Amino acid sequence: MTDGRVCIGVFPDVWYDRQGKLLAALQDLAHVRFQSGRDAAIEDFRFVILANPADELLERASRCGIRALVYGGAGGPVAGEAGVMAFADREEIDRSLRGEQFAEPGGVDQCILRCYPGDAVLATRAGAPVWVRRYTDGAMSDRVAIEPRPLGDGELLRERLRANAVSELVPLIQFVREVAGAGDWEQPPPRACFVIDDPSLYWPSYGYVEFARLAECAARLGCHVAIATIPLDTWRVHPEVARILSRHANHLSLLVHGNNHTHLEMAREEPEDSRRAQFAQALRRFERLRRHPGLQLSRVVEPPYGVIDGAAARLLASLGYQAMLYTPSQFIICNRSRPWPTSLGAVPVDVAPHGLAAIPRLVMSRHWRSEVAIAAFLRQPIVLAGHHQDFFAGLGLLEKFSSHVNRLGNVKWLSPAAIARSLCMTRREGDGWIVRVGARTIDCEVPAGVRRLVIERPWVDADGEALEVQRGDAMEQPLRIEGASASHELSWEGRGSVRVTLSSPISSPIDPDSVAPPPQRLWPILRKIMVEGRDRLYPYLPERLVRRLRARISC
Ligand SMILES: [Zn+2]
Repeated sequence: MTDGRVCIGVFPDVWYDRQGKLLAALQDLAHVRFQSGRDAAIEDFRFVILANPADELLERASRCGIRALVYGGAGGPVAGEAGVMAFADREEIDRSLRGEQFAEPGGVDQCILRCYPGDAVLATRAGAPVWVRRYTDGAMSDRVAIEPRPLGDGELLRERLRANAVSELVPLIQFVREVAGAGDWEQPPPRACFVIDDPSLYWPSYGYVEFARLAECAARLGCHVAIATIPLDTWRVHPEVARILSRHANHLSLLVHGNNHTHLEMAREEPEDSRRAQFAQALRRFERLRRHPGLQLSRVVEPPYGVIDGAAARLLASLGYQAMLYTPSQFIICNRSRPWPTSLGAVPVDVAPHGLAAIPRLVMSRHWRSEVAIAAFLRQPIVLAGHHQDFFAGLGLLEKFSSHVNRLGNVKWLSPAAIARSLCMTRREGDGWIVRVGARTIDCEVPAGVRRLVIERPWVDADGEALEVQRGDAMEQPLRIEGASASHELSWEGRGSVRVTLSSPISSPIDPDSVAPPPQRLWPILRKIMVEGRDRLYPYLPERLVRRLRARISC
């Protein structure tokens, strides 16, 4: 049973055995499968990965027109020096990485690649070619000088793709995507949002952020900025701020930033009752903002520091949260003891337990351009989170971010709630259309000619769960189907595409209003007063001091 996956042969078989975890994770990124070269001949495959092959094997691959990714080069690998991994600005390179450069530390094992006339150098590291595309007798092969190390126990694929570590995996991921071809998963166009953490709405400005200017800038650029506001703060909204947010609801929205914003408040292990009380209170406080008509509110939680205990997802979904923003690197460290898939944080669509959408967020740093490139390469939403201090020199950063992201082409700037509703991967199989959803409610466009929908919901177990398929015109009675991989024959025939909403209602929701509030504590209020005072003082400080302080803020 191959379920339509393209097969890639891996030689030698010991390399296949050694890289088992990595290859398994890659099958979540592209619709391929890997087969060991044990008991097989290279001629049995159309696509192969060859690690340090003999010349004879290379010649056979070339003679048979087999597309190959070849690791190895002249001599054995030696530990490379620190250097820049530079991708060529060529159409063979994924658009997200064309012309991009990544500074990497030393110690990466690297072979020497010989180049011949007609070779296309796709990437160099420290000036030496490390990824070369070669055409011989009509066969195309990629020669790669840096071989991925096997993933260790508990190590996730995403930990090998960071702003300072891309050389190991990019050629391999691009290769598997290319060979998966037309049968591979498709994603919606790039989606992006800038998040500003922490502002209260008490006054027309917060630190360096003036809401009127921010709105004007976001509208002019056509981008979207989400204000991650702390539920503790929602007791007061300045009327002018409410007017600005309402007038610019297409470009400014609000999301839930923790509850009290105490240190790691959503990442601590704590009793279920206490956690339920905190999360319900956060939502109740956030919902107070509905007193101000026209505000765009996302029931999306961004935990302070981007870290959340993975066990909290079930509760968040039951209370009616739509999604969580999370920082993959910190989330993985905080939740390493749990059995996550090895591809967590590296796939276009991750979904936390109980159908809570999981939207990876990037943290503002001097590497933000590299982080954006990696997120785009992984086909993930591009959500960059910063603070008011990042605008100490004006709103130029927003302009830089939007123009950098817009280079990807056809970018949709969306609120976090709208991003959550876009989280799906789709694949065509004959007249069937497979949708893997990443949230309890998503909107998608069923292409013309589709007669059968197959909806995959990774969080649903064998007991099944109701699913409602609603056509765009909203007049039709929703269809209810069950199961983790639910199949449904379409009753409509559309000449063009048809917009549908796929919803998985929670079977036993918890009403936040029914949950008793947590005990009152003085510390969150004292902390809030201190942080608010600090942030409002910033614009009056010398620029040198601001630059130094800015480097220390990461919540
Ligand atoms: Zn914060």
